Amino acid sequence: MSLNSARVESLRDIIDRPTRVISYPKKADGTPVYTSEFFGENVFHLQQIAKALPKPAFASFLKQMRGRQALDRATADAIAHAVRIWAMDRGATHFTHWFQPQTGTTAEKHDAFLTLKSTFTAAGEEVTAIDAFSGSQLLQAEPDASSFPSGGMRTTFEARGYTVWDTTSPMFIQEGPHGTSVLYIPSVFISYNGDALDEKTVLLRSTEQISKSCVELLSLIESVPVGAQPRTSHVFTTLGTEQEYFLIDRSLYALRPDLKTTGRTLIGNLPPKHQQMDDHYFGRVPSKVMATMSEAELELFRLGVPVKTRHNEVAPQQFELAPIFEEASLAVDHNLLTMDVLSKVAHKNKLKVLYHEKPFKGVNGSGKHCNWSMSTDRGENLLDPTVKPETNYRFLLILVSVLHAVQQHGALLRTSISSSSNEHRLGACEAPPSILSIFLGEHLNEVLDSIEESRPIKNFSMPEIQTIKLGGTALDVKVASLPSISRDLTDRNRTSPFAFTGNKFEFRAVGSKQSPSFPVTILNAAVASAIQDVTSALREQMGSKPFPSDADKLAVIKKFIVSTKNIRFEGDGYSDAWIEEAGKRGLPNIRTCPEAFEQLLNPAHATMLTKLGIFSQSELTSRYFIMNERYAKDLLVEANTMRTLLAQQILPAAFEYRGSLAQSVQYLNGIEGEAQSPELEALKVLTPAVKELQSAIVSLDGAIAKMHTIHDDAVAEAKAASDYILPAMQAARAAADRLEVMTADRYYPIPRYSELLWF
Ligand code: ADP
Ligand code: MG
Repeated sequence: MSLNSARVESLRDIIDRPTRVISYPKKADGTPVYTSEFFGENVFHLQQIAKALPKPAFASFLKQMRGRQALDRATADAIAHAVRIWAMDRGATHFTHWFQPQTGTTAEKHDAFLTLKSTFTAAGEEVTAIDAFSGSQLLQAEPDASSFPSGGMRTTFEARGYTVWDTTSPMFIQEGPHGTSVLYIPSVFISYNGDALDEKTVLLRSTEQISKSCVELLSLIESVPVGAQPRTSHVFTTLGTEQEYFLIDRSLYALRPDLKTTGRTLIGNLPPKHQQMDDHYFGRVPSKVMATMSEAELELFRLGVPVKTRHNEVAPQQFELAPIFEEASLAVDHNLLTMDVLSKVAHKNKLKVLYHEKPFKGVNGSGKHCNWSMSTDRGENLLDPTVKPETNYRFLLILVSVLHAVQQHGALLRTSISSSSNEHRLGACEAPPSILSIFLGEHLNEVLDSIEESRPIKNFSMPEIQTIKLGGTALDVKVASLPSISRDLTDRNRTSPFAFTGNKFEFRAVGSKQSPSFPVTILNAAVASAIQDVTSALREQMGSKPFPSDADKLAVIKKFIVSTKNIRFEGDGYSDAWIEEAGKRGLPNIRTCPEAFEQLLNPAHATMLTKLGIFSQSELTSRYFIMNERYAKDLLVEANTMRTLLAQQILPAAFEYRGSLAQSVQYLNGIEGEAQSPELEALKVLTPAVKELQSAIVSLDGAIAKMHTIHDDAVAEAKAASDYILPAMQAARAAADRLEVMTADRYYPIPRYSELLWF
């Protein structure tokens, strides 16, 4: 019997397991129901609220929704009643406020609609069971907040935290067990004093600031008289999150304690074939994976999540899913839902989703590209150069604002994507470098250069429609975009952390596992602040005139083109030359997480955030502690997991193999000519590798012990984790990986990369 029988059994199980089949929606006559017909059927839409309320109440609800004020009781009661009936008719037994504490995931606590009602009669108390859901239950709940991270903002004895319905995001139902369902109420999570304890409150504040700043700038350049109704009264940010992930077999996953506890493999060597053939990217999706994707999509369509694109990614077993972009806070909710639904469905399909940024060493990691733009309430994309860019002052003013934002607060953007897991990916020559720069593409660069040098634009012809010949005339397709911009789409720069892609920016450095909320909040904040700077410069330029002339606008655009030049970079972000060049340009190169967290308290960034009212100083400080604490804990968990895996599985396996070699040597010893047996040679090579691993475990123990000498100081713990745990784990991994190559397969206790990545 093979010692690694669990591995072999799992592999056998995978081969024998049929692909799961579910029934996709069909009409009574067996014909398919179109996706558009069931899209959003599990969502309680605004129209349903409209139906539930008298007209004036609905009008005031809309007003409250936009102004984010408290709802009045009668309106809340009417909505609560309507949504309860709607949800219960669809099997709901419970409701929950669904919120986003600073843990990187979502939180929920279910309550039944069931209530007991007492009536007192002459015969005594009579208790009846009823189903109820009041306006105040809809509006607000009070989970025990003491167990969520607060960074010291809320000590346990005053652990009041409230979840409050975010009326901008619709309620929905999700499947529960046994055909029941649960009503989800998207909520913010705030303390008794109104401090943000979550990711969403700050995101909503940041979008408000974007709107305010944009409306002010637009009113100025669109010459709206003071006091008059501006042409644009509201601006929001749009977000499309491309989600990358790995999908591996669950029975193999279950045999890897490192994957189970930390989401990544802490040891393991690459198989001979991995991604070097470039044959996985856009390849045919394996049938079990396709079944999972399709089942998840079905649920997401019903939840109103517009998932659009699915494909294989670069690494084996790596995939991507992208939605149609939406208003940012809804897009964040939908990204979190997507991650959740995909995990659940994968589980049913006996697969496991890995959202970790770097589950396997040596193959590509995963990101969450955040495609970001701003849109007016009339649906105009402010980053769309739809008319000639050289005369599109609005586009150029917004563009230089983004350049200015990233230049001023690039270090803070770096903070927003910093975690122990994304650290393995950033700058690893397959992901964006940790130095923030902007890629604009050749033509947009030429536009900016020509303005800077006050000269005509070179080679700039811009017919409205370009026709691409596809051979026969019948196959000609019309491409309804500007050639200069479509060129941009082709000359992409995968090495840029922040790239302009036609009519939006793509923040590519965001980690696959993290919520997009914090990075988008910081980006919104930096851009809102930059737009204010640009607006002030414009006011200064126009002097006493009521509105800026085209010359004024151009002068300001030029001013910011000049001042933000160092942030523009078109070259190879992976090259060492860039690191040197960026240093000369004065761009921060923040290498470690603890250094990145410091930026939250750096006055250059903190003042911007507090001035805009997006974070209070105490919210920033608390977040700073939470990020440090989380980082230290993540690394400590990894170190302990690794220690156990090495000491209890890998080292004993090597001992057993050594024992079998030693036994052979002993048997052979008495035989003439066998004194220098091959087994003895193998033993001689194996022994130092085993010793090396053994001493690496001792060093790892030492690093862990150092962490335990620090008490109640998250910042010192994070620093110690970065200084001691990281190098100790690296050394231990190197020793374990060397040993893996030497250990006979039948002794190796856990699935190898070759099995995890090719099943
Ligand atoms: P790509 O070539 O990068 O795949 P796509 O046009 O498919 O480009 O866009 C990728 C993501 O960007 C999608 O999620 C898409 O919805 C989103 N996106 C497109 N336009 C915008 C926009 N104006 N604002 C935000 N996201 C956008
Ligand atoms: Mg993209």
